[in-house]
Amino acid sequence: MAEFDYIRWLRTQVRSTDRVEVGIGDDCAVVRIPEERVLITTDMLMDGVHFRLSEAGPRRVGRKALAVNLSDIAAMAGRPVAAVVSLALPRPGAGKLAEELLRGMQPLADEFATAIVGGDTNAWPGPLVISITVIGEPGPAGPVLRSGARPGDWLLVTGPLGGSRGGKEFDFTPRIQEARTLRLLCDIHAMIDLSDGLAGDLGHLCTESGVGAVLSAERIPIAAAATGDRLQRALTDGEDFELALAVSPEDGRMLIEQQPVPDVTLVHVGEFVAERGMWIEEGAKRRPLEARGYVHAFE
Ligand SMILES: [Mg+2]
Repeated sequence: MAEFDYIRWLRTQVRSTDRVEVGIGDDCAVVRIPEERVLITTDMLMDGVHFRLSEAGPRRVGRKALAVNLSDIAAMAGRPVAAVVSLALPRPGAGKLAEELLRGMQPLADEFATAIVGGDTNAWPGPLVISITVIGEPGPAGPVLRSGARPGDWLLVTGPLGGSRGGKEFDFTPRIQEARTLRLLCDIHAMIDLSDGLAGDLGHLCTESGVGAVLSAERIPIAAAATGDRLQRALTDGEDFELALAVSPEDGRMLIEQQPVPDVTLVHVGEFVAERGMWIEEGAKRRPLEARGYVHAFE
């Protein structure tokens, strides 16, 4: 199957939404976004770096490539509208691989009403590379940034952390609905999705907000899949794709008591402080926490 056969096939596979005026087949897609502001995010995933195609299989890889972008939209409490998908496909078998990637992606796109409206498909002698760009829109209250955490705010996370390699890193649900629900219930001061591990991503959030943070070791929820030094895994394993958010103590108390998000247990794991830096408390002991960001699962 050559590129144009694939594109013809693709046009029969992808589903449109009411936002799409022109989908695949013209020089650009045309999507309706009534908001004044759009969210744009892109992620490039490479075989051997972000996944191993031979181990994970193309459907899980395709799903993940879209899901990581949706997670970034979730981190802004936005909602996705459209996606463009660019593939560098290894020859031979490029056509079949492209099909399988799309089959992995499409159910997730449908679940979150994200129309795949275009992209580019090339074949080459190198490994698989997938780059997806998602366009979204912020919620009615606007986008939630990394930069709004204040001293005294509570730090909440949306689920257990660590040990996602080989499992949750592929199968996670982007927290789109959860973020929107939370945003409607309270003023989220800052938020980030946990792609590089709690310690690393919290470091980004603190830097952007100009604050520090103190974590409570006993409170950090650790996933069952995290083995060995379980706390360390929860702090530094990447690709949990839960959300970490800063809210006022009043909102934090309300959210922890009411647990208003279906299927998600919000956990209060720490506080933001005025002094720059990060610390973790275990019992009465407080030690500095290194902002160990960027721990790719396959590095
Ligand atoms: Mg992110």
